[in-house]
Amino acid sequence: MNEIVILSGKGGTGKTSLSAAFATIRNNCIVADCDVDGADLHLILQPENYINEKFITGHKAVIDFNTCTNCKLCVDYCRFEAISVQNEQEFISETSCDGCKLCSRICPSKSIQMVPSDKSIWYIGNYRKGLMVHARLFPGEENSGKLVNVVRENARKISNETGWKTIIIDGPPGTGCAVISSITGANTAIIVTEPTHSGFHDMKRILDLTSNFKVRSCVVINKFDLNESISDKIEGWCVENSIPVIGKIAFDEQIVAAMINCQSIIEWRPESEASKEIISIYKIIFND
Ligand code: SF4
Ligand code: SF4
Repeated sequence: MNEIVILSGKGGTGKTSLSAAFATIRNNCIVADCDVDGADLHLILQPENYINEKFITGHKAVIDFNTCTNCKLCVDYCRFEAISVQNEQEFISETSCDGCKLCSRICPSKSIQMVPSDKSIWYIGNYRKGLMVHARLFPGEENSGKLVNVVRENARKISNETGWKTIIIDGPPGTGCAVISSITGANTAIIVTEPTHSGFHDMKRILDLTSNFKVRSCVVINKFDLNESISDKIEGWCVENSIPVIGKIAFDEQIVAAMINCQSIIEWRPESEASKEIISIYKIIFND
């Protein structure tokens, strides 16, 4: 199994465009969109979902107003300040409640129940070159790392069932726990960066992380021609630190046009310089 994760310091660096391009070059591809907080790869690949399952992110406290005596004990004890009094009635904020269960334990009239938060969903669907696992974490819900694990486990399951060996992982931006869940066990990490000081800084942070997980890492500089001086600095730093820079993609407004038209740049403008560079990157990664 060959698991390739594509990462970036922040959203909008071109990570999803590169993932979509790989996913539309290769046949019999398994795509795992692990950017569960801001999933958008499905908008390009347009999978026909044949599985959709609820994902329980945790539990939230709910008050039964029929039995609540308004003693306010729960208000005093909730250290997340999730319980307030509104119009002389205790009210629990769904977004502030951490699910710690303390209020349900201390309520003298047993008026607080913990109910599962099940508004997040994961999916499996067919797209034009293979199969895609993706998910939608409901806004404000936590446990994105666990949802990423669900996406990756299902991608591996599909690989075992179909015999398809390649999993392309569109990772979440940043260096948080969802990123760690995305890179654990991956064979290769491609870090997509832009020629800005913050892009350079973010790239180094991600490389720190991938080196801790002993994942083979390489860099792609997207829109490198927007600031060639910083692009050169990034490249120089990568050479000094033995990190291969496997491609430099020039700014091309057709990449956005492709996304708007639900296609990858490879499908939309196969003859463009950006497509040619991406195919060259693809060949390095997949040894094709
Ligand atoms: S502790 Fe129970 S009874 Fe007291 S205000 Fe809270 S929910 Fe109502
Ligand atoms: S479960 Fe915990 S965080 Fe949620 S309202 Fe009760 S005490 Fe507060």
